[in-house]
Amino acid sequence: MTFQTFLIKYGEIGIKGKNRHLFEDALVRQIRYALKDVDGEFSVYKSQARIYVDCEGDYDYDETVESLKRVFGIVGICPVVRKEDEGFEKLKDDVVAYMDEMYPDKKITFKVEARRARKTYPLNSMEINCLVGEAVLEAFPEIRVDVHKPDVMLHIEVRNQVYIYSEIIPGPGGMPVGTNGKAMLLLSGGIDSPVAGYMVSKRGVGIEATYFHAPPYTSERAKQKVVDLAKLVAKYAGPIKLHVVNFTDIQLYIYDKCPHDELTIIMRRYMMKIAEHFAKEDGCLGLITGESIGQVASQTMQSLAATNEVCTLPVYRPLIGFDKQEIVEVSEKINTYETSIQPFEDCCTIFVAKHPVTKPNINIIKKSEENLAEKIDGLVRQAIETVEIIEVK
Ligand code: ATP
Ligand code: MG
Repeated sequence: MTFQTFLIKYGEIGIKGKNRHLFEDALVRQIRYALKDVDGEFSVYKSQARIYVDCEGDYDYDETVESLKRVFGIVGICPVVRKEDEGFEKLKDDVVAYMDEMYPDKKITFKVEARRARKTYPLNSMEINCLVGEAVLEAFPEIRVDVHKPDVMLHIEVRNQVYIYSEIIPGPGGMPVGTNGKAMLLLSGGIDSPVAGYMVSKRGVGIEATYFHAPPYTSERAKQKVVDLAKLVAKYAGPIKLHVVNFTDIQLYIYDKCPHDELTIIMRRYMMKIAEHFAKEDGCLGLITGESIGQVASQTMQSLAATNEVCTLPVYRPLIGFDKQEIVEVSEKINTYETSIQPFEDCCTIFVAKHPVTKPNINIIKKSEENLAEKIDGLVRQAIETVEIIEVK
């Protein structure tokens, strides 16, 4: 079956009044962005509180649907057969042909749901419901009507043209990216942080990212893996400005000056500080990490408190209550898992202590950080000044 249009369904809760057109405009923009590289020509527009994607000529159906399934704010995608209005008899024939092709095995129940958007059409929606229903029953005696719980809700919309659809492909839900500001994701090469970015972005938040690498202890391949992950997240979140920070000298200095069981916490605190610097510079409204309570020593309640303490922006941890398996499930769904598990060293694993503190005391940590007084400000400044920016699309 060929479809000429997609009707886009979106959730309407919380988008009443003035916010509605902001939401819709953002959704139209995100849909256009998502279809930019898809084979075909599309025109995306809103009309009468609905959003339509018209496909001009040939296009790649599967790719189009896959792309739309990544646009936050979309609740459902309805492939539509769009026909010229050539009279009611022709409309009935078109609907019968549609049912025949869509449901080759006729063991279904259905209900017609007509909508007359063009008020000058000679029949009203009740009349369309009855007469089209009759035509379908006449053509296919095996098909039954069920007005309460039909298998197939057959929608007919009379606009300038006639729209026929019955299938709803689920979208990702959420809010269109750009309707809720942006935030800075601390993106490592692991499983968790890409999922964390996805989840916050799903609520309409644009994403920037910061990655700390430690050459030569971490390789170019490890960095490339992070760029690849950013690309996968960008399929949902839109373009991501990725900050790649050279963290080696800071890490070595901490290693040299501080108790080894506190290394991870102190390193984390400097990561947060530096990421926050870039976040504020670019107007991000919060930081995002992939932390989850108790997952590792640096993610106990005490450790999280110690890391949090250096930031003034809110730190969002969308995975906080997730078990690893639940995180893995999302990463598989969004297709980051396979990339995340590629075995490249991570800058934290190289400098980890055998027995890291699990209940760091902030005052003791601060005391240890005093050992860094001589050079740390200069090293942080240098890390910030030498940042490499990669625009990930
Ligand atoms: P992930 O799978 O996201 O790497 P993880 O389970 O390995 O997480 P940690 O290594 O403790 O956990 O990191 C916790 C969080 O700190 C990460 O989710 C990420 O947000 C941030 N983080 C860790 N290492 C880096 C890094 N090298 N660059 C940027 N952010 C990092
Ligand atoms: Mg990690």
